[in-house]
Amino acid sequence: MNESGELRDGLMDQSAAPRRVALIDRDGTIIVDKVYLRDPDGIEFAPGAIEGLRLLRDAGFALVLITNQSGIARGYFDAARLEQIHDRLRSMLAAEGLRLEAIYVCPHGPDEKCACRKPAPGMVTSAMRDLGFGPDEAVLIGDSDADMGAAAAAGVVGLRVTSAGKSAGAPADFLEAARRARVLLAEREGGQAGRN
Ligand SMILES: [Mg+2]
Ligand SMILES: [Zn+2]
Repeated sequence: MNESGELRDGLMDQSAAPRRVALIDRDGTIIVDKVYLRDPDGIEFAPGAIEGLRLLRDAGFALVLITNQSGIARGYFDAARLEQIHDRLRSMLAAEGLRLEAIYVCPHGPDEKCACRKPAPGMVTSAMRDLGFGPDEAVLIGDSDADMGAAAAAGVVGLRVTSAGKSAGAPADFLEAARRARVLLAEREGGQAGRN
C-alpha cells in the first residue's frame, strides 16, 4: 500500500510501526465555523481543538487538514486570501507547538462535479498517495455529512464532532474524537501485530 518511501520522524525507532494520520476538517471542527471565513483575523479555535491536536501529535499522528472552500468558486475570496488564512492558522498552531503536515483544499463549487469536494474522497486519496499511508492507518475527523461521506468513500473511519460555533457552548468534542482516534489506531495496530 505504501509504494512511495515514506518519511518517519526520528523520535524513536518506528521502522516496523505503521503510520498514524489524522485527516481533519477545518470549519466547525478545529476552528469555529464563521461561514465563508475570509479574514485571517477571524480564526478562532473550537473548544477542545488545541488539546485534541496535541493528544493526536503526542500519539504519533500526522495532522492533515482537508477542507472544502467553495467560497473561492463563489467569488467570496480568492486563493491568495485563503493562503493568508492558512498561513495565519499555521502560525497560531505553531505557537501551540503544533504543525500541520499538509493542507488539502477543494476550491470548487457544488456544481462543478470535481473529484475533491467532500463527500467525494479526492482529498483523502491524494493525501494517501502523497504522504504514503493506507485507509487503516488513518481516521477522518469532521462535523458534517460531507466529511463522513468522504471518509466512507475512501474506506477510512470517520469520527464526527458537533459543529463548533453552530451550537453555543459545544463541549470539547474534538478532544473526545482525538481520544477515540488514538484508541482505534492502537487497537488496530495491536490486531495487526497479533495476526502473524
Ligand atoms: Mg466542517
Ligand atoms: Zn474540488
